[in-house]
Amino acid sequence: MDKEKLETKTVKHPPRKNVSITDPRGRLKSLSDHASTVEMDRNIPPQRYYRSGVEMIRMADMCMKDNDLEYAYILYVKFITIFVEKIRNHPLFHTVPLKDKEQNQQTLRKVIPKAEELKKQLLEQYQKEYEKYLEDMKERERIERERLKQEELERLREEEERKNKLAALAAAKAVKVAVNENAIALEENKIKKIPNVSPKPLVPLVSPASNTAAQTSKEKPNIDRSTKPSLLCDNFTLRDVILPTKLMHNFLMLAFNNTMNNKETCGILAGKLERNKLLVTHLLIPEQTGSPDSCVTHNEEDIFDYQDQHNLITLGWIHTHPTQTAFLSSVDLHTHCAYQLMMAEAIAIVCAPKYDETGFFILTPEYGLEFIANCRETGFHPHPNDSSLYMEAKHCKLDATAIIEVVDLRRK
Ligand SMILES: [Zn+2]
Ligand SMILES: [Zn+2]
Repeated sequence: MDKEKLETKTVKHPPRKNVSITDPRGRLKSLSDHASTVEMDRNIPPQRYYRSGVEMIRMADMCMKDNDLEYAYILYVKFITIFVEKIRNHPLFHTVPLKDKEQNQQTLRKVIPKAEELKKQLLEQYQKEYEKYLEDMKERERIERERLKQEELERLREEEERKNKLAALAAAKAVKVAVNENAIALEENKIKKIPNVSPKPLVPLVSPASNTAAQTSKEKPNIDRSTKPSLLCDNFTLRDVILPTKLMHNFLMLAFNNTMNNKETCGILAGKLERNKLLVTHLLIPEQTGSPDSCVTHNEEDIFDYQDQHNLITLGWIHTHPTQTAFLSSVDLHTHCAYQLMMAEAIAIVCAPKYDETGFFILTPEYGLEFIANCRETGFHPHPNDSSLYMEAKHCKLDATAIIEVVDLRRK
């Protein structure tokens, strides 16, 4: 870690886009930098971070199983950044129960060497990809040289052909001239023009053929493009979140009574990572109190226990707007911020049965997330540029065949 930090002072790396191709170390550093950029929201109680820490490690383990070393590394570095550096500065750090801190310390002891080991593995992987990339470059150059050589040969051959044709024409003309030696001056003038005119019509006769020849001789580079190092930015695009279509229907069914009484209902979306996709497999309904425009959860421990027992990670939340349209209120934006800070892909679903609308939202990663994280207002309050704070979650995919397990933890 320290070594990497020292290098930042001496080596100036190109923007992330080019790093992966030019420099495996730079690529790794870029990954570490990305991972250690953690936004801390002081409005979020520190316990919540400790809770997310548990899930981050769970998620990292899933990534390792999924053979996604990069993402596992990102999660480990984030975990270390939060719990070695940042959490201590939280104004409510002293309120964290001792057992949570101890458990976290135990995890840290395992995570730090794991992250170091992963770093070595990633560097090796990047080095190999880089070498392969250089090899491919050489191969591409060789093929290009070969193609140019073939083109040159083809050009020479055509030139030769054209010369031969001109010579044949000149010979034929010579014969004609001899025969018509005594012809009238008018005829002679006509013949004189032939050598000047003849190359013109000859060229189009030859060139279409040469084009075809050049095309067929063009060797298709036989290069496996999948081995080209992926640009790092690719790794930071959002993974797909797969939602069972039934989820919304099931949720509206169990929210029905509240909706009729003009009370909001909320639920937690939980699931797992599989083949680089986040699958929502569970809808967890916590103990809660709803009002016409808000919903407060209680006994979150019940949810955590269930998730721990079933190895589930939090992928977002869902709530109803009994009388309003599907949008995110200022309070919703703050609620969602906590989810999205922990999991970049976390989504907010809003069901508006009165308008038969369903919204799938995220805070805009480049603006809204940071803006809301830094907003100190509470309760309902206006935000400037409201429309650019959140957007439709395009990484959400509905799956009509996927099943959803509904776990209602409300005390009846
Ligand atoms: Zn809402
Ligand atoms: Zn705000």
